[in-house]
Amino acid sequence: MEQVVIVGSGPAGYTAAIYAARAGYAPVVIAGSVTAGGNLVNTTEVENFPGFPEGIMGPDLMDKMAAQAKRFGARVVFDDVSRVALEGPIKTLATLGGETYEAAAVILATGSTYRELGLAAEKRLAGKGVSYCATCDGFFFRGKEVVVVGGGDSAMEEAIFLTKFATKVYVVHRRGELRASRIMAERAMAHAQIEFLWHSEVTDIKGEDSVEAVAVRDVRTDQTTEVAASAVFVAIGHSPNSEIFRSQLTHDSDGYIVVHGPAAPDEPGLSAHQATSLPGVFACGDVVDRTYRQAVTAAGTGAQAALDAQEYLEGLLADSVLAAQTI
Ligand code: NAP
Repeated sequence: MEQVVIVGSGPAGYTAAIYAARAGYAPVVIAGSVTAGGNLVNTTEVENFPGFPEGIMGPDLMDKMAAQAKRFGARVVFDDVSRVALEGPIKTLATLGGETYEAAAVILATGSTYRELGLAAEKRLAGKGVSYCATCDGFFFRGKEVVVVGGGDSAMEEAIFLTKFATKVYVVHRRGELRASRIMAERAMAHAQIEFLWHSEVTDIKGEDSVEAVAVRDVRTDQTTEVAASAVFVAIGHSPNSEIFRSQLTHDSDGYIVVHGPAAPDEPGLSAHQATSLPGVFACGDVVDRTYRQAVTAAGTGAQAALDAQEYLEGLLADSVLAAQTI
C-alpha cells in the first residue's frame, strides 16, 4: 500500500510530489498517459513563473518539475485513473492500464480541460481547422487568415502566437471589453495583424472537410456576417477535470472540487486548506480553483495539499501508536 498517491502532473501535482517526496512519503504520481505535464505542455513561453527572469518554455518547466519530484523519490507512472473509491481509511484507484493502487492519502491535481463552443460544426471540423491549441496546430495555417474566439489571456496568447504563421488573426469576443490581463491585452491590441470583432459570437463554422468561413453574429445588432478563415482557435476557458470524483466528493455547480480553505481563527484541529469533504483526500490546482488558475498558484496549492496530507498521515500514525499502547 502507498502512503500518498497524487493524481495529475501539472504544476499542482508535481509540486505536491516534490513536497511529499522530500517528507519521505515516496509518492506515486499518476501522471496521465497523453496529458502528462498538464496544460503547460501545450503552451509556449511562460513569462510569469518566478525564478525564470528570461521566461521558460512550458514543456521545459514541466520537465524540470518532474525531474525535481523524481530526485526526491517520487515515482511517476504514465497512466490514467479510471475509477476511485475514496471513502474509508484505504483509498483505491484503478487505472486504464489495469493497475490498482491503494493509498492512505490521495491528492487530486487533475486540472482542467478546454471549453467548447457547443456548435455541431465545431465537432465535425475538429482537427480539420477547429483547434484548441495554437501551439499544436498554428503551424498548419502559414499564410492563411484565422479566427480566435475568446477575450481572456489564453485567447490573447493564442492570437499573438498565431501571427507568426497567419497573415491575419480575427479575435471574436462576446463583449466590448477584454478579460485578459492588461499587458496581454495591450500587446494583442497593438498588433498590426490582429483585428478584434467586439460584441460578437461565432454561430456557425462553414466548410465540408476543412474550415472555410465563420459566421459571426453581432450581439447588439443581431446581424450575422461571414468571415473567411481557414481555422478557428477556441480559447474560451476551461472546465475542471473532476468527473470521476464528483459522486464521492462535494463539488460546486460547475464541478470544481470544494476544499476546506483557511481555517477560522477559533476552529480547532487541522488547518487543512486543501482538505476535501472526505478525510485523507486533498485537492489542489485548477480542479479546485475557478479564480486564479495560474501555474504559480497551482504550485502553491500543491504544496499546501502535500503539507495537509503529511499532517493527516502523522495524525494516523499518532493514533495507531496510541492504540498500540492502550492494548
Ligand atoms: P478566462 O480568463 O476564463 O477567459 C475566457 C474568455 O472566453 C472570456 O473572455 C469569456 O468571455 C470567453 N468565453 C467564455 N465562454 C464563452 C463562450 N461560450 N462563448 C464565447 N466566449 C466565451 O480563460 P483563459 O483565457 O483560458 O484564462 C484562464 C486563466 O489562465 C486566467 O487566470 C488567465 O490569466 C490564465 N492565463 C494566463 C496566461 C499568461 O499569463 N501568459 C496565459 C493563458 C492563461 P467573458 O470575458 O465575456 O466572460
